Amino acid sequence: MEAQEAWNAAVRQLEMILDRASFDTWVRPTQFLHYNAPEKTFFIGAPNTYARDMLQFRLYRNVQRVLSDLFGSDVDLSFELSRREKSAAPAEMEEMPLFRLLAQQEPEAANTEAPTTLGPVARVPELPEGDLNPRYIFDRFITNRSNQMVHEAARAVAEFPATVYNPLTIYGGVGLGKTHILQAIAHACTRRKLRTIYVPSEVFMNDLIYAIRQRTTAMFREKYRSVDVLLVDDVQFIAGKETTQEEFFHTFNALVAFNKQIVLASDRHPRELTQLEDRLRSRFQGGLVADVQPPELETRMAILHMWAQERSVAVSEDVIAMVAQRAPASIREMEGVFNQIVAQMRLHGSNGVSMARAEATLDRFHRPRERYTLEQIIDLVARKQGLTVDELVGKKRTEKINRARQIAMFIVREMTEYSLPQIGEAFGGRSHTTVLHGCNKIAEEVEADPVLAARIQSLRQSLTRHS
Ligand code: ADP
Ligand code: MG
Repeated sequence: MEAQEAWNAAVRQLEMILDRASFDTWVRPTQFLHYNAPEKTFFIGAPNTYARDMLQFRLYRNVQRVLSDLFGSDVDLSFELSRREKSAAPAEMEEMPLFRLLAQQEPEAANTEAPTTLGPVARVPELPEGDLNPRYIFDRFITNRSNQMVHEAARAVAEFPATVYNPLTIYGGVGLGKTHILQAIAHACTRRKLRTIYVPSEVFMNDLIYAIRQRTTAMFREKYRSVDVLLVDDVQFIAGKETTQEEFFHTFNALVAFNKQIVLASDRHPRELTQLEDRLRSRFQGGLVADVQPPELETRMAILHMWAQERSVAVSEDVIAMVAQRAPASIREMEGVFNQIVAQMRLHGSNGVSMARAEATLDRFHRPRERYTLEQIIDLVARKQGLTVDELVGKKRTEKINRARQIAMFIVREMTEYSLPQIGEAFGGRSHTTVLHGCNKIAEEVEADPVLAARIQSLRQSLTRHS
């Protein structure tokens, strides 16, 4: 077989072996330059230094094996910049910190890396504190017909990152378990000592803006590109944000090329993210796209049973069935209803919750959440707790104020759709981690502390009354 022909055939085979994003990004744009017979070396052109290094360091083994098979003898490969493209490589491509890292690695470690395994990382930057909710694990995720596919895909990705579906893109309506699934994957991977980052896309964006402002973009890149598993939640928020999309596109390519797993969640199918750049949209759809559907009645009942058991309360079957049928489709809202019912049981004793009372709770919850603004809630919660708004969102940290602040954050989170960074901003520019910590703390305590539960219940009630 002619050298040129062999190369073309190798490309066609690689298309079947590599995942689509890797192939499209690195292999498709290559071109055959020449073959040096005495040295048995193929010279292949790559469009830019990034792609060249990728092929040379990470994909070499696969490419070499396929090509040697087709050519009928062991050959070497040398990747060079295609002359045509030499000056066209964007300066930013030359700057990829990852390749400086890579260049520092022992050649052996880099060369023998089969693309289907998770490669070692030369230097390990600090990862952010884990923002994972301990309750969002696979064991607490109830499966059924409507979410079986997404559940199995998530399990497979957690077990074999970067080998089955990459990326795994999960989409579906609010409160149907997307974040739960993403974090369950993150928990599983973290437990196996894989370097894992879970971020809401807004946090990725904030991080990027901060890095640009502080001129620490190299660190930013190192952080996001040195992971084994990157999970980005609510990617719909980056649609229309140009700089973020651009950076995310490069992060995405770098990770996929290094055979690192990417998992995304979105509130709609990627093709419906109209503000998203085409090249990102096609990346998002390059692996498996799976949707979460509202669960069926039996599943909702199973989830309610699980919650009752976890909170050690005996909720009657009637009430469970009624809540499962009538609570909003969103499981998050169903949990809100359920928590209020549990709070009442703790207040009045478990016999005190009649169907009528439970139904009244449900009716109150049916009001749309959007009617409360952050300011309204902060204002009311401050007043009810005997503080001024300034105290509640200010810098002061007495025990009383801290507590009131956490309660306020908890209520905002429960009764609105504001994101963690937005809530942090409203509470005097606090970080999303602080908000999450506060909310989790109250959520935990409220289950064991009837006085706190009653206090929160009464705040909720005055809020619904005032709006
Ligand atoms: P989304 O990210 O899709 O808006 P979340 O993942 O935040 O939704 O889920 C909302 C709540 O519902 C969480 O408390 C989550 O644990 C719970 N939940 C959703 N689906 C399930 C399920 N199948 N089994 C158990 N809990 C679920
Ligand atoms: Mg979510």
